[in-house]
Amino acid sequence: MGHHYGGVVSKILLSDGRQVVSETSLSEVIYYDNETEMMQYVSAKTIVRPVKHGSSWFGHNYNMNIYRGCSHGCIYCDSRSDCYCIEGFDEVRAKEDCLNVIENDLKRKRNKGVVGTGAMSDPYNPHEKELELTRGAMILLDKYGFGASITTKSSLIARDIDIFKRIRKHSPMVINVTVTTYDDELCRKIEPNVSVTSERFRAIRQLSDAGIFTGILMMPILPFVNDTLDNMLSIVRKAKECGARFIFPFFGTTTRAGSREWYLRKLGEISPDARNKHVSMYGDAYECPSPNHDELQKAFRAECDELGIIYRMDKIIEEYKTLFKFQSTLSDY
Ligand code: SF4
Repeated sequence: MGHHYGGVVSKILLSDGRQVVSETSLSEVIYYDNETEMMQYVSAKTIVRPVKHGSSWFGHNYNMNIYRGCSHGCIYCDSRSDCYCIEGFDEVRAKEDCLNVIENDLKRKRNKGVVGTGAMSDPYNPHEKELELTRGAMILLDKYGFGASITTKSSLIARDIDIFKRIRKHSPMVINVTVTTYDDELCRKIEPNVSVTSERFRAIRQLSDAGIFTGILMMPILPFVNDTLDNMLSIVRKAKECGARFIFPFFGTTTRAGSREWYLRKLGEISPDARNKHVSMYGDAYECPSPNHDELQKAFRAECDELGIIYRMDKIIEEYKTLFKFQSTLSDY
């Protein structure tokens, strides 16, 4: 959870044996080459796409995915569900010629707005360190007067503070760092290939100190794993200490065909007891709210109210958009 939102996909096998996944709603064709371990590129005619039907998720007006797939290895990742048909999900592919495609997309937009990224893969995956494609995309958002909303688990995001500061002078700018567990040891088990929680908090501190509107996506909270009052309160208090402005939580997780098998296998390696409890409580259900959901939610709201941290999506959107006195028209995209 955290990186979740995708299009309708279908699989095609080409006559030369290459496997192609056509993501029909995104007009992309993805080519896989299993023979090499080089960074693979996928073609995309367009990358920055309008969000239809309003933008309840952080008020995004547009979305973009610069990379396809993710190597962070979170055991609960929803993006590996069968419905997205992303084979070899753990290998990161980049969009071919992506900065030119993004620049063309932005030039053609009649309306400015906030461009979200980080839905189906983490824009600060390990390749970004060298490739600097997310950084390049942010430079373009600044150049063409767009806002940005980024979701990540990587402390690499702090590298690009210089550009975020430029964007926030003319447009809304919001950063969502996902934090699910306060304990670095547990974090290494459930999100093995990305910055541990303490490093993420350091990044939140740096971003907040630089005046960037930064908060936490506290999701998923895994039933029988980290759904404790202690974990939740530790995150909230540390968030306050690091200058986070908001926390958006979900006290539970979701599982679907494809992601469910993966999750239960990995969970079984960490805690057979938690796995067995999960299976007997949720079976094949999509939504798996924590048995402690109500208690956690109540205590969470009380703590946030006390500390002045906002947690309702409409408030988060209102605050980060009006804070920068940006007038966005949500129609005609
Ligand atoms: S960081 Fe990567 S592996 Fe983890 S939930 Fe997001 S997309 Fe999935």
